[in-house]
Amino acid sequence: MTEKLGFIGLGNMGLPMSVNLLKAGYKVYGFDTNSQAMEQFKKEGGVGLATAKEVVEQSDIIMTSLPTPQIVEQVYRSEPGIMHHAKIGSLLIDFSTVNPELNDSLHKEAQSLGLGYLGAPVSGGVIGAINATLTIMVGGEKDDYQRGSEIFRIVGQNIYHLGTSPSVGTRIKLLNNLMIGFYTEAVAETIVLGETMGIHADTLYEVLSNSYGQSRIYERNYLEYMKNENYQPGFTTNLLLKDLKLAKNMAEEVGVPLRIGEKLVDLYEDIAQHGYGENDMSAAYLSLNSLSKSTPTL
Ligand code: NAD
Repeated sequence: MTEKLGFIGLGNMGLPMSVNLLKAGYKVYGFDTNSQAMEQFKKEGGVGLATAKEVVEQSDIIMTSLPTPQIVEQVYRSEPGIMHHAKIGSLLIDFSTVNPELNDSLHKEAQSLGLGYLGAPVSGGVIGAINATLTIMVGGEKDDYQRGSEIFRIVGQNIYHLGTSPSVGTRIKLLNNLMIGFYTEAVAETIVLGETMGIHADTLYEVLSNSYGQSRIYERNYLEYMKNENYQPGFTTNLLLKDLKLAKNMAEEVGVPLRIGEKLVDLYEDIAQHGYGENDMSAAYLSLNSLSKSTPTL
């Protein structure tokens, strides 16, 4: 445990992941552009530094959990960023969900600078980040994976080294989130229709939980969010929309028509534009409810 860790992006996912590394006894240097996130990180025992550059200079293993590919690219490639300041031999681990090409090109650049790089997107949500039960989908060199594996075991539970391609984990992660897009709207439509016919959402959940309509997303969206009328993210509609666009681009590149998947991009764009972008994605239910004209009939 002699390696010093850096964590850039201490948001809904990054903060609990870094806290688990602190609890395991690591020294963790952190940076986030949001001062509240920095305060929380410091309260948990992390060493908050004023810039990403300082974090990078202090650390042997540098992790990122950032919202969009554009921000990831900026944090890695800008002058004050990771590539310019990482010590030779450092390992970079990106937990963010980005486009596969970005994983590939950052890996190439890292290699040319004598740095290791792993694309390691995660699944399992904020709860998974807090409880260290994340699924981690890792792509990259075997040696780099072995070096990162202690960290993966601390922040996650189901760890997959999927191959030496740095983007293979991202491709699988985007397939996962394509399904999340389907399920989230399916849950919203099912519950709004059921309620409009007078069927209580609890009854519906209990019966469908023992039927083929059951899904992890139904469980998550209904029990953690809709039932409690709590739409604090979680995973925002905007992040889901970002991932659906990335999945659509990925499909276009290989020539697979996503017959419904493409429509999901328009749908979540519309939901976001109606004010639900920064809510948890389960707010698809609120959005549909606001469009529903009928009153219960039973
Ligand atoms: P978030 O918006 O809560 O956290 C991102 C953090 O990055 C924020 O605190 C923000 O202030 C910070 N940030 C933005 N620009 C920065 C910069 N230039 N330098 C430093 N910090 C910066 O997002 P999140 O939900 O934690 O998601 C992070 C990544 O993980 C995303 O790529 C997302 O798709 C992915 N993800 C999220 C979930 C989830 O359930 N929330 C699950 C799996 C994967």
